[in-house]
Amino acid sequence: LVKTAMTRCIQCTRCVRFVTEIAGVPDIGLISRGEDVEITTYLGKAVASELSANVIDLCPVGALTSKPYAFNARPWELKKTETVDVMDALGSAIRVDVRGPAVLRVLPRVNDEINEEWISDKTRYACDGLGRQRLDRPFVRVGGKLQPATWGEALDAVAARIKASSPERVGVIAGDLQDAESMKAALDLFGGAGIKNLDCRQDGAALGAGPREGWLFNSTIAGIEDADVVLLVGTNPRLEAPVLNARFRKQWLAGKTRFGVIGEAADLTFGYDHLGAGPASLTGLAKSKSDFAKAFKAASKPAIVVGQGALSRPDGAAVLKAAADVAKAFGVVREGWNGWNVLHTAAARVGGLDLGFVPGEGGKSAAEMVRKGALDVLVLLGADEIDLKDTDAFVVYLGTHGDAGAHRADVILPGAAYTEKAGLYVNTEGRVQRGERAAFPKGEAKEDWAILRALSEKVGAALPYDTQDQLRAKLFADHPTFGQIDHAPGSIPTAFDLGALGAAGDVSDAPFASPVKAFHLTNPIARASVTMAECAALASGAAKIAAE
Ligand code: SF4
Repeated sequence: LVKTAMTRCIQCTRCVRFVTEIAGVPDIGLISRGEDVEITTYLGKAVASELSANVIDLCPVGALTSKPYAFNARPWELKKTETVDVMDALGSAIRVDVRGPAVLRVLPRVNDEINEEWISDKTRYACDGLGRQRLDRPFVRVGGKLQPATWGEALDAVAARIKASSPERVGVIAGDLQDAESMKAALDLFGGAGIKNLDCRQDGAALGAGPREGWLFNSTIAGIEDADVVLLVGTNPRLEAPVLNARFRKQWLAGKTRFGVIGEAADLTFGYDHLGAGPASLTGLAKSKSDFAKAFKAASKPAIVVGQGALSRPDGAAVLKAAADVAKAFGVVREGWNGWNVLHTAAARVGGLDLGFVPGEGGKSAAEMVRKGALDVLVLLGADEIDLKDTDAFVVYLGTHGDAGAHRADVILPGAAYTEKAGLYVNTEGRVQRGERAAFPKGEAKEDWAILRALSEKVGAALPYDTQDQLRAKLFADHPTFGQIDHAPGSIPTAFDLGALGAAGDVSDAPFASPVKAFHLTNPIARASVTMAECAALASGAAKIAAE
């Protein structure tokens, strides 16, 4: 990821201090003495950090530069657009630099509330995936093969199937990178037609009922630094939100915060008490006499961070209830402090939950929708993280890449990636942020909301907006929280009923496991990226790389 021109190096050791102190991976060092002094990685070793490329920004002389971007463009050729990242649920502030239709680089912007001045390597380098495996025209499956089609033919094919099906036999699953406007248009179109099979939780996370605070990171990302004891449940923040993990490490290094983990005993780059692997350790914590339990009880600002590894299981609702019981027992929500935090992994998830993109009364969940015989028509809004092998429905895929959803699709409606549309995203804190368009959609692709608007005409239920501004006005009117741009609700701590979270039930003994198995391959853009594929091979040990 990092190209070196060490004849420029002035041996300031900023890069050494960054990887050692902030990233927590002491893989760069300074060797030799006097005029022989040299900055280098350990022999034959790449820097094993999800934040490694930040050294490019902090090297004062350009000795460390971006390898994929090197010699590709001159800065004055680039159009620069300030927007937000969707590779995880933090919504890091970024700048996207494009030349013509191609995104050439992504850089961090300073936002002390979220990412400070860092971004993850995936945020920075998955951008080459925006130009590969793209769906740039509609397709319709004819005789078992996907054939190029016009927009009219593709929309007619979808509308005919929807009109021929009853609402109980149609379902919609929203993916992890969707903007709020497209989910709102889908809700208005399909929900308005009486369809209750709606879900934005491809992983089956047990969230979406009860008060909004129940699915938010209430302490706020910056505010978590005030916590004196933090319990992490079923999450590996290093893989799920590397920039947040760096903040945890900062707290730990400063000696301000004690951490406890229930889940995988992974290398998080900071010290913690490993309290157990599964739900039994969670349910037993209130009665535990461990040092951590005593410290958690005595904490003035205790916080609990519940990850999707704890909630995306068959017993997720019971685990959520157990976590809420622990939060109650330890006073995690108290006067002037709300330490109940859910760490999401999908950029679209909080927006989807805020919109109520969950099954209606009697509706099917995402897992139920993809079962054999469950539906006649299944609409996937960029949903690629769900197993489609059993479904025998007519599958409509509205998305950007030739990934899992498109492979199974009967009709493909090419949409716009996050850099190709203006859209609202709600981060894990519940902060609504505006993404901006940096380039135009590829080929004949269109913005997702506009495709749904066109489809609504074809099914004979035209949506009541013709422009994105009109759609946003309706979104703000129906869901006022979306109008609170850049406001993190947890910045004004409010009490809420923890008892309303989850449901009573048996919890299994299965240990919690992070949903992120391969950090570099978590979404269709990253999976299309050559750079991310190389990083994933390196991280898994399948490839070796020599230090430059
Ligand atoms: Fe050399 Fe750049 Fe590292 Fe400073 S940050 S030691 S100049 S490579």
